[in-house]
Amino acid sequence: MLYELPGFEHVDARDVKEVASLLHRYGGKAKVIAGATDLLGLMKDRVEGPECKIPEVLVSIKKIPDMMRIAYDKAAGLRIGAGVTLNRLAASDVIREEFTILFQAALQVGTTQIRNMGTLGGNLCQRPRCLYFRHPHFLCFKKGGSKCYAVTGEHRFYHSILKQGKCVMAHPSDLAPALIALKAEVMIMGPNGSKKVPLQEFFLGPNHAAETILNTDEYLTEIDVPVQSEKTYQVFLKERIRHAADFALSSVAAVARISEGNCEEIRIVLGGAAPFPYVALIAEETMKGKKLDDGLISLAAEASVREAKPLRMNGYKVDLTKTLVKRALGSLALSASRDEAASQ
Ligand SMILES: Cc1cc2nc3c(=O)[nH]c(=O)nc-3n(C[C@H](O)[C@H](O)[C@H](O)COP(=O)(O)OP(=O)(O)OC[C@H]3O[C@@H](n4cnc5c(N)ncnc54)[C@H](O)[C@@H]3O)c2cc1C
Repeated sequence: MLYELPGFEHVDARDVKEVASLLHRYGGKAKVIAGATDLLGLMKDRVEGPECKIPEVLVSIKKIPDMMRIAYDKAAGLRIGAGVTLNRLAASDVIREEFTILFQAALQVGTTQIRNMGTLGGNLCQRPRCLYFRHPHFLCFKKGGSKCYAVTGEHRFYHSILKQGKCVMAHPSDLAPALIALKAEVMIMGPNGSKKVPLQEFFLGPNHAAETILNTDEYLTEIDVPVQSEKTYQVFLKERIRHAADFALSSVAAVARISEGNCEEIRIVLGGAAPFPYVALIAEETMKGKKLDDGLISLAAEASVREAKPLRMNGYKVDLTKTLVKRALGSLALSASRDEAASQ
């Protein structure tokens, strides 16, 4: 019968090298398991594709102390082990004070129970929320089929308004836009050692069956966030249907360096809008070096969705996203002008 968990072997890895060697030894038959909030559901629903088989071996990273650490150094920045849970992340004083959007984004993920179990690495590697993808009876493009059922089917909530391709999913992670806005990098470990990659380059586009660049024998060990320069302001906003717990209809992470009312540097990253976290480059270009006033904020909000090509039933997300961007930028401008006034 479907919906029963298939049998699997569970291995507690003792260190980061052992994870890589186990993944390598079992080839595509093994997968990393962390909090299990996404993976076990996918296994029950028999979700698999050409690049992602139902695993026979689950390699747990939860007993590896290095992967459970949050470390901060004023020179080196923030290092978060991929196995850190979202609630631990939100409870960290340094994250709340110095990397506020990580705190804001983590607290808006799911429920307390999900945040207690779900890890940062798992949040970045979670699979799409598209109901056709998750349903055992639909062989969609991502599962090796030839079509995307959502294009002509149900796509009101968890699908893209921008940059669709063979698949029209919207990227579900709240932490990914926040981390990209902070210019985070991820450490990928494989059988031949580790490499650091900007998080922005970690995600693939809509014409791939997988969402990330990870090979079957690679996994994330840590996420590194650089120290933010002075006069940097941050905000993460998200809109969803059920405020108790829901994925983003649209979200925006904005990080700006504002000096004497001028927008010296800005990063605007959208979630829930494209098949990957979307860096709103046109909006960023519109703002750089300019006076941060209401007129500029309106122009930037328009520019953030200039590339939008909504599907038949999700056009409302264009206005929603524009409004979120406007509010986010307004909030950055307000914080900066308050600080400016206080320092005079
Ligand atoms: C009811 C519900 C509501 C949710 N709401 C939200 C929401 O509002 N916003 C949001 O952003 N997310 C939401 N989520 C997703 C949630 O954040 C993820 O399920 C969770 O973070 C995954 O972490 P995990 O440790 O449980 O991963 P697991 O389930 O253990 O793994 C998930 C996937 O990631 C892979 N993986 C895990 N760790 C690593 C690693 N270190 N390296 C490589 N691959 C890895 C696994 O192999 C698997 O493919 C929700 C989930 C549920 C079930």
